[in-house]
Amino acid sequence: MPSAELNPALLDLRCLACGAIHPASFDASTCVAPSHRGERGILDATWDYDRARRAWPAPTARGFWRWKPLLPVAPPAEAILDPGDTPLVAAPRLARRLGLKALWLKDDTRNPTRSFKDRASAVATAIALATGRGTVACASAGNAAISLAGFAASAGLACEVFVPSYATAERRAWIERFGARLHVSGGNYDVAFEECEVAARANGWYNRNCAYNPFLVEGKKTASYEICEQLDRQIPDVVICAVGDGCTLGAIGKGFRDLRALGVTGAIPALVGVQAEAVSPLVARRRGDGWIDDGRETIAASIAVRRPRNAVRVLREIDESNGAIFAVSDDALRAAQQAFAREAGAVVETATAATLAGLEQLAADGQLRGARVVLVLTGARDA
Ligand SMILES: *Cc1c(COP(=O)(O)O)cnc(C)c1O
Repeated sequence: MPSAELNPALLDLRCLACGAIHPASFDASTCVAPSHRGERGILDATWDYDRARRAWPAPTARGFWRWKPLLPVAPPAEAILDPGDTPLVAAPRLARRLGLKALWLKDDTRNPTRSFKDRASAVATAIALATGRGTVACASAGNAAISLAGFAASAGLACEVFVPSYATAERRAWIERFGARLHVSGGNYDVAFEECEVAARANGWYNRNCAYNPFLVEGKKTASYEICEQLDRQIPDVVICAVGDGCTLGAIGKGFRDLRALGVTGAIPALVGVQAEAVSPLVARRRGDGWIDDGRETIAASIAVRRPRNAVRVLREIDESNGAIFAVSDDALRAAQQAFAREAGAVVETATAATLAGLEQLAADGQLRGARVVLVLTGARDA
């Protein structure tokens, strides 16, 4: 019989918009206090770090669930796909050309379903199992849907996924291969996201949409724990990641702050977020401007998010770390994707290429001379 218990070290959930404290519960979603005027407040888990510290794993431990002192749910009774423990690959040729002291690629394309999204899907699947839900659901441009479909298959759960009209045949085929039910939206990612929210609520499916589900960034933050461990408990100066909804880089920031709170490290890296110029609402918001959707498209489908749902989280993490967020052109994405392959032997999708495109821009400005930098390789599925 599954035991539906949250990790007792998870104290409560705080609204990132208004600060309201919500009780820790598997049913929690977003904060809808009237002061938000319709915008949904994202909830963030508060942790008892003293408790977590006593159970923190030794550097020799392996497996995603070794991080359970700071994960919301215990590992499932029966094994499911195990994400994480991805290599941190040195890229000395790129480092030399860009004038860095060191450059590493956190290669999350080597996860079970080939993307960073697997770290969140593991937590979603474990919660669905623990709470006795038979069906999991998400909306996605591709990677999150494929990821959830694979994890659901490994756990024997039904899976319903919502993709935008432009999701490629290859991405649809991955989803169907894993046996998930595919709903192709009439619109873009933002439309598919709303369709999924409505259907999950109506049907009682466990919703894996990462921004609104307060537990999933807790899975994604494990990448930071691994980076720190792989650098022998040092932290890099800068970590660069492609940004769509903001969950991934937001989670990476939380992971490094966790390590600082635990006393594992003394400092946190500067977080750099990179968006695609044609769809860069977070860059506009950071500048204090409204973003005008002029309908332009980008080749970076995985980060083409017009209404980012984790904006507050990711911008706060960037500020806390003295980081930055900016956008790069599709031409720069194409060039960076080639440079990844030709100078590091790394195959990445166009969204992930934003990391190197962003790094090229910072290096050209002379900002990172002698720095130790990590690029997060979030995905490799271009079609
Ligand atoms: C989802 C995704 C991202 C961005 O993650 P967000 O949480 O939406 O910011 C970046 N790269 C790839 C390949 C992705 O699939």
